[in-house]
Amino acid sequence: MRYISTRDNTIQYSAAQAITQGLARDGGLLTPFFIPKLPGKALEDLRDMAYQQRAVYVMKQFLDEFSVKELTNFVNAAYGPDKFDTPAVAPVHTVDGDTHCLELWHGPTCAFKDMALQLLPKLLPTAAKKCGCKEEIAILVATSGDTGKAALEGFRDVPGTRILVFYPEDGVSRMQKRQMTTQQGENVAVMGIQGNFDDAQNGVKAIFGDEKMAAELLEKGFVLSSANSINWGRLVPQIVYYISAYCQLLADRELAPGEGVNFCVPTGNFGNILAAYYAKEMGLPIDQLICASNSNNVLTEFLREGVYDRNRQFYNTMSPSMDILISSNLERLLLALTQDPAEVREYMTQLAETGRYKVSGRIQDRLQKRFKGYFCDDRETQRVIRTMFERHGYLIDTHTAVAFSALEQYRQETGDDAPAIVASTASPFKFCASVLEALGELAPASGLDALDQLSARTGQPVPAPLAGLRDKAVRFTQVVEKDHMLDAVRSLLE
Ligand SMILES: *Cc1c(COP(=O)(O)O)cnc(C)c1O
Repeated sequence: MRYISTRDNTIQYSAAQAITQGLARDGGLLTPFFIPKLPGKALEDLRDMAYQQRAVYVMKQFLDEFSVKELTNFVNAAYGPDKFDTPAVAPVHTVDGDTHCLELWHGPTCAFKDMALQLLPKLLPTAAKKCGCKEEIAILVATSGDTGKAALEGFRDVPGTRILVFYPEDGVSRMQKRQMTTQQGENVAVMGIQGNFDDAQNGVKAIFGDEKMAAELLEKGFVLSSANSINWGRLVPQIVYYISAYCQLLADRELAPGEGVNFCVPTGNFGNILAAYYAKEMGLPIDQLICASNSNNVLTEFLREGVYDRNRQFYNTMSPSMDILISSNLERLLLALTQDPAEVREYMTQLAETGRYKVSGRIQDRLQKRFKGYFCDDRETQRVIRTMFERHGYLIDTHTAVAFSALEQYRQETGDDAPAIVASTASPFKFCASVLEALGELAPASGLDALDQLSARTGQPVPAPLAGLRDKAVRFTQVVEKDHMLDAVRSLLE
């Protein structure tokens, strides 16, 4: 399978090159030339398999340079019982009739990022070896909270790699910050930046685009790569769980073979929902993709009006992993819809220069056929958490609540009651204070004590990885200005 930049199809890359490099040299995202179709009987075959086997099957379609044996070893290590607290890995919980919830937070950091970031540290060094790369791989990560921790945990002490994480100093939850600053491992570094997630992501992208810096690092024996969802190796493991969820519901006889479903995904950088789109392109019977946003509703507007405009107020919300105004992976969707890298490049140039672009009418039609966008604010987020717990005894986090609100709005607006699967992206214990408040707790405990309070209030156990934070010392306290990220990288890679 060949990969191209979203902005230029003249250079082709192999899967291993795409994963090793992380980002195309022209700033575009490396993306498969075409999306493979699932063979006719695939879903039936996959229905009776374990999650790990489904993962090998689906990933093999995209990563043809990796052998089935390699992929099998990777998934067994990534999704084993020492990492995930349920053998189902990504279980589907039926909330009510035709409303299901795909729980993606049973891994070591309690957020969906583990689904890909347990696997990428296996894929990346192997991919680099296949490309003949002998340098140490320095992974730069910009995080809105969850990617950072999941990447640190995945890459810690992986031979031949270093990992540097930048997070917005005032833009992550206390639990997220604590998880990152206590990270163990010899090859890790964590730094706050004075700025928001978009600043962190732009800083990282600028370092990737800096040829002088690349030469300097090469001299020192390093090549840069990315663990953000701009890296194809992040997206491919995410396609798996959409297909797996469908197969699970087939196995449970909740769905009939071929029956259409809608997926609703809480969205920030557009990685997770893009993986659902690729699953649909592969032939999974998905009717609608519902894109859920918080008050940073740039995507809602884009899907409705065809105008992407980041020139707007930035909000810090109680779903911080979605506090994003530049959704990088939208670029891959634009390539899929236009089939024209020159058109994508033009939109991206406009975005960089004016913060805004408008897609053509043809593209807008295609978008709206596949995607619906909804958003909600913090009050509504809390109402949904409360209602879900009171009505169904089901505890959800703030990001998942945004998605349930979007699904409710979609069903009301369209009357479409088809089976729907909501992607649940984090454990409610990761966002304790907001969840407690939503449940009517007037004085949520501070810091880690909130874990016990939420457990007492709901009768649910604190996930072990979060309970364990109490015993861990803070190792990283450094904060840099957003314009000094390059210097920080330079000083860390000596
Ligand atoms: C990262 C994240 C999201 C957003 O996912 P994208 O792939 O960036 O769209 C949503 N919820 C949680 C909890 C996350 O960590």
